[in-house]
Amino acid sequence: MIFHGLQKTTLIDFPGEIACTLFVDKCNFRCPYCQNPLLVLEQAKEALSESEVLEFLRKRKKVLDGVCVTGGEPTLYAGLKPFFRRVKELGYKIKLDTNGTNPRMVRELIEEKLVDYVAMDIKAPLEKYDKATNSIVNKNAIKESIEILKEGKTGYEFRTTVVPKILEPEDFEEIGKMLKGAKAFYLQQFVNSVPLLDKEFQSIDPFPDRVLEQIKKTMQKYVEKVEIRN
Ligand code: SF4
Repeated sequence: MIFHGLQKTTLIDFPGEIACTLFVDKCNFRCPYCQNPLLVLEQAKEALSESEVLEFLRKRKKVLDGVCVTGGEPTLYAGLKPFFRRVKELGYKIKLDTNGTNPRMVRELIEEKLVDYVAMDIKAPLEKYDKATNSIVNKNAIKESIEILKEGKTGYEFRTTVVPKILEPEDFEEIGKMLKGAKAFYLQQFVNSVPLLDKEFQSIDPFPDRVLEQIKKTMQKYVEKVEIRN
């Protein structure tokens, strides 16, 4: 594995853990509101080899509990599983961020106890997925990943960035039905103040907070714990 970014410490990315975050490049989606355009377009300059990362983790074992792996889309890499095995051998907990397009890998990682927490993006109701991601999406893969996580064999959350022009508050009835019975769901406020994959989205204003509160109420009908992340 090659990594294209390392945040040495984070108190917020991995619930309950002091962690670091590793970034991989490449993604099979092209969400216009993506905040990591350099990673997605494989233009990130920084590069860290797996052995450099493992060396860093060895040295930081006394201060860190967890490792988050995000991107880009980490499950595009066949080397992810062997890397996670090495990280586990060092005694770390692992959190994976995924867009849910590789349910087979998600299942294998869970069954082999190589992940402790999975955060899966829910981009939109299924019928809007292609528009939300600017890609042709295998919706069955998305549904399968949702069901795998709902089995609860590892810690997990679902999360949606509430992007005006793509999502309407009414869409959350459909999203709620898809996630019915899930343990945790986070609404993420759309951010337009950083470089986005589609620059036109930088001129779109986020929904006001009261709209997110209204969506939260909708989601509470379907999911045990619903929070807003700003
Ligand atoms: S938001 Fe996530 S899934 Fe979408 S393009 Fe960016 S990295 Fe890929």
